[in-house]
Amino acid sequence: MRKKIVAGNWKMNKTLDEAKALVSEVINMVNDEVTGDVQVVLCPPAVYLTTVRQYLSGNGRVSLGAQNCHEKPSGAYTGEVSAPMLQSIGVPYVILGHSERRQYFHETNAQLAEKINQALANGLTPIFCCGESLEQREAGIHQDFVRQQLTESLFHLSPEQFAHIVIAYEPIWAIGTGLTASTAQAQEMHELLRRHIAEKYGEEAAQNTSILYGGSCNEKNAPELFACPDVDGGLIGGASLKSREFTNIVKARQ
Ligand code: PGA
Repeated sequence: MRKKIVAGNWKMNKTLDEAKALVSEVINMVNDEVTGDVQVVLCPPAVYLTTVRQYLSGNGRVSLGAQNCHEKPSGAYTGEVSAPMLQSIGVPYVILGHSERRQYFHETNAQLAEKINQALANGLTPIFCCGESLEQREAGIHQDFVRQQLTESLFHLSPEQFAHIVIAYEPIWAIGTGLTASTAQAQEMHELLRRHIAEKYGEEAAQNTSILYGGSCNEKNAPELFACPDVDGGLIGGASLKSREFTNIVKARQ
């Protein structure tokens, strides 16, 4: 059956000392307090991946993810980080298609399909983000929009490749705004995504795909969001920067 996952997306936050303090606090709390079978994934800024990895070594419950990778394996792309580089430093997960990457760095569904290919070719597990804007929701096109994001970036994959994909549904209007999707809205969209996957890859593949919710998820709303049958965990932004709150969210999912 599908994995329960709580991933922390630190975005562009923390100095090195702050990152070290956060990872060691999270590891201690998770080791002491979490007993269930939830997989925790910490996604620090790329410059701290190697350092954070040292803190995680040998810890099966807490794993490591990057926030992005380039669609080419190497070359003249100043400032970028490739999937082979991430693999070479022992990073198992990579967030791809976050709405901030789509908005500020103009990532397209087609480009993300290439990034997904790169990630999979290098043994990384992509956490593929999708989600609609408020305008799209108000115009009633949110369902078509997220279905199209999946179709254009993922549905070229073979069933074997698709089995490695984790999906995060993150309505843009809920990210960093303090507005969370209601449990009904989250469940409706997660179920829709699962049905869309079933139509392409079959019911078993759909049932085995972890679909995380993201967008102002915090220690207060996590229990009810995670109680939705199609919500398998969370992609946590702001609340992942606080060890106590992040661990409480993990505990809500175990
Ligand atoms: P947020 O961010 O929890 O701060 O809303 C979620 C995300 O962007 O992954």
